[in-house]
Amino acid sequence: MYNNISLPDFTHSPIDIHSHFNHGSIFDCSGDERHIREFDFFESVYHNANVSQVGISTFASVLEHTECIVEENEYLHKLIDKKEWVYQWVVIDPRQKETYIQAEKMLSHSKVLGIKIHPDYHGYNILDYADELFCFANKHKAVVLMHPQHISKMPSLVDDYPDMKLIIAHLGSMEHIDAIANARHGNIYTDTSGGASNLNNIIEYAVKQVGSQKILFGTDTYSYAFQFGRIALSTLSFEEKENILWKNATNLFPKAFK
Ligand SMILES: [Zn+2]
Repeated sequence: MYNNISLPDFTHSPIDIHSHFNHGSIFDCSGDERHIREFDFFESVYHNANVSQVGISTFASVLEHTECIVEENEYLHKLIDKKEWVYQWVVIDPRQKETYIQAEKMLSHSKVLGIKIHPDYHGYNILDYADELFCFANKHKAVVLMHPQHISKMPSLVDDYPDMKLIIAHLGSMEHIDAIANARHGNIYTDTSGGASNLNNIIEYAVKQVGSQKILFGTDTYSYAFQFGRIALSTLSFEEKENILWKNATNLFPKAFK
């Protein structure tokens, strides 16, 4: 019998800070049975894995149909009061003033983690809007979750806004690690979500370079079992694994995750 590997005895269930789902919007993400994107599927996956805290923006709100963002934010904002495991990223498109107004209202909710931006799918250059976005986030002491774009430019941009925090999603490049190291106020973070964390030493290398406290656990709807196992069974220390899987999230979002 092969049973000499067991999971570490973690003291808290993992917190997935980066996910999405479809909910029947005409602007949902297309998919098939190989990569299911529906709410019920995720609910059963998280239930099965005993995960009770997941940070979400709907798929429709981060894809190319930016006309639905306001409606999608409203939809999710209602859902967080109904579904205990669902936490919200409020999506801002800097070209739509109304999304700023929404964020201003929604950020005070204890289950809203911060602001999500997706310059690539929304079709703008972050360098044209970073100052305005980061200034807004700074004023609200908010966390911004950004799909990566112009990563190497981020430290000099956030250096002017020490009260905000920027998570550059999808750890996978040296630029991610350098950005964390170069932020003068230590306010750049990354997450393990997406496919790039399948690189066999990326997370371990990042921890060696910048420590484990700036790296957060996320799935971006990829296999939870893979994403969790990638960290739980890695060569990282128990303390480093705990930091990434849940502890950093409780420090970064004290209002949401007590
Ligand atoms: Zn994502």
